[in-house]
Amino acid sequence: MNEHYDIVIIGGGINGTAIAADAAGRGLKVLLCEAQDLACGTSSASSKLIHGGLRYLEQYQFHLVREALNEREILLKKAPHNIRPLQFIMPNDPSIRSPWLIRLGLFLYDHLGARKKLAGSNMINLERVDEGSLFKNKFKTGFCYSDCWTDDARLVVLNALCAHENGATIKTRTAFKSATREKEIWRIILTNIDKNDDITITSRAIVNAAGPWADEIFSRTLAIEQQRHISLVKGSHIIVPQISTTQNAFILQNEDKRVIFILPYLNQYSLIGTTDVEYQGDLRNIRIEDFEINYLLDGVNRYLKTPLRSSDIIHSYSGVRALAATNNDKLAEMTRNFTLEINDYSGESPLLSVFGGKITTHRVLAEQAINKLLKYFPEIKKTWTANTPLPGGDIPNCDFNIFIENLYQEYSQFDQHLILRYAHQFGTRIHSLLKHTNNPIILGENYGCDLYHIEVDYLIKSEWARTADDILWRRTKLGYSFPKDNFYRLENAIKRIITI
Ligand SMILES: Cc1cc2nc3c(=O)[nH]c(=O)nc-3n(C[C@H](O)[C@H](O)[C@H](O)COP(=O)(O)OP(=O)(O)OC[C@H]3O[C@@H](n4cnc5c(N)ncnc54)[C@H](O)[C@@H]3O)c2cc1C
Repeated sequence: MNEHYDIVIIGGGINGTAIAADAAGRGLKVLLCEAQDLACGTSSASSKLIHGGLRYLEQYQFHLVREALNEREILLKKAPHNIRPLQFIMPNDPSIRSPWLIRLGLFLYDHLGARKKLAGSNMINLERVDEGSLFKNKFKTGFCYSDCWTDDARLVVLNALCAHENGATIKTRTAFKSATREKEIWRIILTNIDKNDDITITSRAIVNAAGPWADEIFSRTLAIEQQRHISLVKGSHIIVPQISTTQNAFILQNEDKRVIFILPYLNQYSLIGTTDVEYQGDLRNIRIEDFEINYLLDGVNRYLKTPLRSSDIIHSYSGVRALAATNNDKLAEMTRNFTLEINDYSGESPLLSVFGGKITTHRVLAEQAINKLLKYFPEIKKTWTANTPLPGGDIPNCDFNIFIENLYQEYSQFDQHLILRYAHQFGTRIHSLLKHTNNPIILGENYGCDLYHIEVDYLIKSEWARTADDILWRRTKLGYSFPKDNFYRLENAIKRIITI
C-alpha cells in the first residue's frame, strides 16, 4: 500500500517549509519534498532582511508594507536567536528625493505596522555619527530607521524542524517527478536523486511551493495548463571586506530611484546588493554578471569617500525572485506581494500554487495557504504559529543579550566566538549540541574554521545536512573562510557519519 498524506508540498524553501510547519501543527499529515537541499534556491540568496520594504511605499503598496511590518514584530519574538534589529543610515541626496518625501515615508514606515521593540526613525547630522566619515563631504545629513536582519537559510531549517517536530515528513534530495489526479486523490511519484529510486505516494492535496521552478512543476511534472505565469527576476549581491566597523547598515539611493544596501555581514564583511534583472537562464547556475558588478560599485561609489574596486570583491551570490506576472508590469514595480491560487476544478483534489512572496511574509503566507484548503480538511485545528517560538527561539523574554551572557558562564571553558555562533544558529537548542558539558573536549576533530565534529554530526542527524556545501553555505556560513584543502576531509567525515 502506498503511504497516504493530506498534503504533499513541493519545495524546501522558506515558503514550502513554513506551509509544512503550519499544516502539521494544525493536525494534517504532511510530506515535504525538496529536490536538493533545504534553502538551496532563492531562500539562501536574499538580502537577509526582515523588513517592510521602504521603497514599496513609493509604489503605494501600503498593504504589503503594513503586513510585512506586522510580521517583522511577530518574527522577532518567534526567533530572537535568528532575527535581530538592524539600524539603517540613509545619506540625504536631494537630487534624487526631497528630504520631505523621505521624512513622510519614514513617518509612515514607523506607524503603518506594529513596532514595539525597534527604535523609530530620525533625521541625523552625518558629521556627528561615527559612520559619517565614510561618505563624501557633500553628504552632510541623513536619516536613520530600524529594520531586522535574519540568517535566511537557517530560518528555513528552523521552519523545517518545526514541521518535523509536529509530525511532518521532510524528504530532502527527493524531487517531485509527476502526479496524476484520481478522483479525490493525487497519485504522486517522487525520486531520490542519489539512488535514482522512485517511490509512489498518494495525497489529498498538493502545494506547489517551488519558487522559480513553479512553472516547470506545472508544465513538466503535472502537465497542467496554468493561468498565471511567473516572471523571473535575478538579484545579485557582492561581498567585500567590512566597510564600517559599526554594526549599522546603509541604504543608498540610486539615480534610477532604486536603493542599494550595504549590510554588516558575519563580523568581517559587508554585503552589498542588489540588482534587478530579468532572467531566463539555468535556475541551478545563477551567477552575477559584469554589468551587475559595475552597477553595484557605481551605486556605492557615488557615496563612499574611499571608492570600492572590483578587486575588493571576495565573493558574490545571485538569486531569482519568482514574481506573479500580470501584463505590462515593469520589473522594479512588479508586486513583491504573494499570490495563492487554487486549481481544483469542481471539487477535485486541489493543487495550491504559491507565487512570489518575501522571506519576511513566510509565516502569514503559510497561514493563508492552509486557510485556502479549509474546505477539504474540515477537522483542521486553529491557526497557531503567530505566538509559538521557532525551534531554539524560546529565549526568556526574547532577550538575546542576557541569554548569551548566561551561555558564556555555563560554557566558560569554550571560546566565546564559538558559543556566540552556536547561540545564533541553535538558540536554546545549543544544549542539545553541547549537553550542558563545560569541557571543549566534547567538540572532537576540528575540520577547519572551528567547524568541529560534534556540529557536523548534529547537522547531519538533526538538520538534514548531506554534503559539505549544505554545511558550509546553508547550515553555517563558514564557506567564506573554510580552507579549500580541508574540503575533502570534511566530505569524507560526512560520508562516514551518514553510513554509520
Ligand atoms: C536578490 C533577492 C533578495 C531578496 N531579499 C529579500 C529580503 O531581504 N527580505 C525578504 O523578505 N525577501 C527577500 N527576497 C525574496 C525571498 O528571498 C523569496 O521570496 C523567497 O526566498 C522565496 O522562497 P520560496 O520558498 O518561494 O522559493 P525557493 O527558496 O527558491 O524554494 C523553492 C525550492 O523548490 C525546490 N524545487 C524545485 N523543483 C523541485 C522539484 N521538482 N521537486 C522538489 N523540489 C523542487 C528548489 O530546489 C528550491 O529549494 C529576495 C529575493 C531575491 C532574489
